[in-house]
Amino acid sequence: MKKQFAVIGLGRFGSSIVKELVDQGMQVLAVDINEDKVNEFAGIATHAAIADTTDENTLRSLGIRNFDHVIVAIGDNIQSSILTTLMLVEIGVSHITVKAQNDYHEKVLNKIGADKVVHPERDMGIRIAHNIVSKNVLDYLELSDEYSIVELQAGPQVHGKTLIELDVRAAYGCNVMAVKRGDDIHVSPAADEALYTGDVIIVIGADRDITRMELDLF
Ligand code: ADP
Repeated sequence: MKKQFAVIGLGRFGSSIVKELVDQGMQVLAVDINEDKVNEFAGIATHAAIADTTDENTLRSLGIRNFDHVIVAIGDNIQSSILTTLMLVEIGVSHITVKAQNDYHEKVLNKIGADKVVHPERDMGIRIAHNIVSKNVLDYLELSDEYSIVELQAGPQVHGKTLIELDVRAAYGCNVMAVKRGDDIHVSPAADEALYTGDVIIVIGADRDITRMELDLF
């Protein structure tokens, strides 16, 4: 059976989640307090409803408990976001993802029982900053405050060199998890594997070590 999603708040973030889930063939209920927003989504989402989700009875009447995953994408109104999340936790929704506006908001959401808190503006800022420092950084995934996974594009400076020659592990304390070459992907590459211009290298390590390696090698 198809998974059932509900997205609350149809601002920029919520709208793009709704559209992407629909594109992936999921069943999506789109909810907003604003009638115009809901009308806009009537033809896009599987269902669309006008509702103030800070009201427990309204939430229950949407049958929100039956959804596999609820995404709270209420932006600026932190109070509404927190209250909605609290109601969802109390009703017993199985999986709740919430967008946080700032670190304090994130802390409260974690405390009251959100399963996952996302911070899209901050995460995108980090990604873009890494991409500005080194244009060879293609993608960046923060694992914790200290550790990340980064996708780097190999340029002529590493062309033909093996991982042992580049000394990725000993000099930088980083591990190459995979090398993508065209459609091929080499998982856990051997130390004597050479890199070629255009390869995409997926590296895991501490942020400061990754940055050192980016600056020296890429
Ligand atoms: P973004 O930063 O992602 O664009 P916005 O703050 O612009 O987010 O949008 C958040 C949406 O959440 C708005 O469309 C707003 O009407 C909706 N919203 C705010 N409070 C509630 C609430 N209590 N119930 C339902 N939707 C709400």
